Amino acid sequence: MRFAINDFNERIEVSRSGEKAHCRGCGAVVIGRKGKIRKEHWYHPNKDCDSWYEPITDWHISWQNQFPVENIEIGIADSTGKIVHRADILLNNNLVIEIQNSPISIKDIEKRESFYGKNNMIWILNGSTLASNCHLDSIERTNVIAIYVDFYKGGLSRNFEKMMVNEELILPSCKYYVDRYNYEFHRHKFDFPLNINYQLLKMKIESFLKLKLSLYDGLYDEEDYAINSHVYNDRCLEAIELKKMNWRKFIDQMKFPVFFDNLNGLPLDRLYWYQENRIVKKERFLNKYLQYT
Ligand SMILES: [Zn+2]
Repeated sequence: MRFAINDFNERIEVSRSGEKAHCRGCGAVVIGRKGKIRKEHWYHPNKDCDSWYEPITDWHISWQNQFPVENIEIGIADSTGKIVHRADILLNNNLVIEIQNSPISIKDIEKRESFYGKNNMIWILNGSTLASNCHLDSIERTNVIAIYVDFYKGGLSRNFEKMMVNEELILPSCKYYVDRYNYEFHRHKFDFPLNINYQLLKMKIESFLKLKLSLYDGLYDEEDYAINSHVYNDRCLEAIELKKMNWRKFIDQMKFPVFFDNLNGLPLDRLYWYQENRIVKKERFLNKYLQYT
């Protein structure tokens, strides 16, 4: 662990090997270890009172240091008061942010989520250790109006681009992307210059889709697709797909929001919200949660 208390009841970090202090959780004497390989830390000469103990890394510390010291490495007791686990970050609204650098079993995920997630929790995963062979594909959007057409069943989606070209609905000035979330859900994206007549274009796409759907003889209806739009006035990075290589399947067992840091293809100032397939600015993420400190 990173912090212990000295004789004056102050939180201290290890300054030299062999230094003695007390564990804030169980009160036992803990000893400082400061070597060349592992990050300096306090260890319990007997058993660590937190059975979930994991080694500290620079990456952990850099995340923890974004938050006030009163919110980091905080012991949380179970209802009996006997079992205590140290949350990496505990906010004043009881949300736990768990900083995960190393692989974890599905069983342990369940345990941690039921313990830390009693109120709410978030996982932050280190992409450079847990998804090092994966790559996030994204596109940058600047000063465009994006129109999305989402299909919830694959069939019509497959020929959509061709049909749009034939109908001259894809303008020469437009950029086109297709996003395949899974076999059931396809998203087609079009970026248009901001000066297009959006309402007119949306109407054209709608009437075109209605016509096509009628040809499918009732197999599809209007609930199978949705048309939405978004104006990007600023530089914005949008995730397309996380290309998974040597994917660690335990990540899919995490029920609480999973944010990746240090992912190939992801700029250093962003996080990737895995379940939502969204790129978020670290600054915005931090500002949101620093409210609760
Ligand atoms: Zn202890």
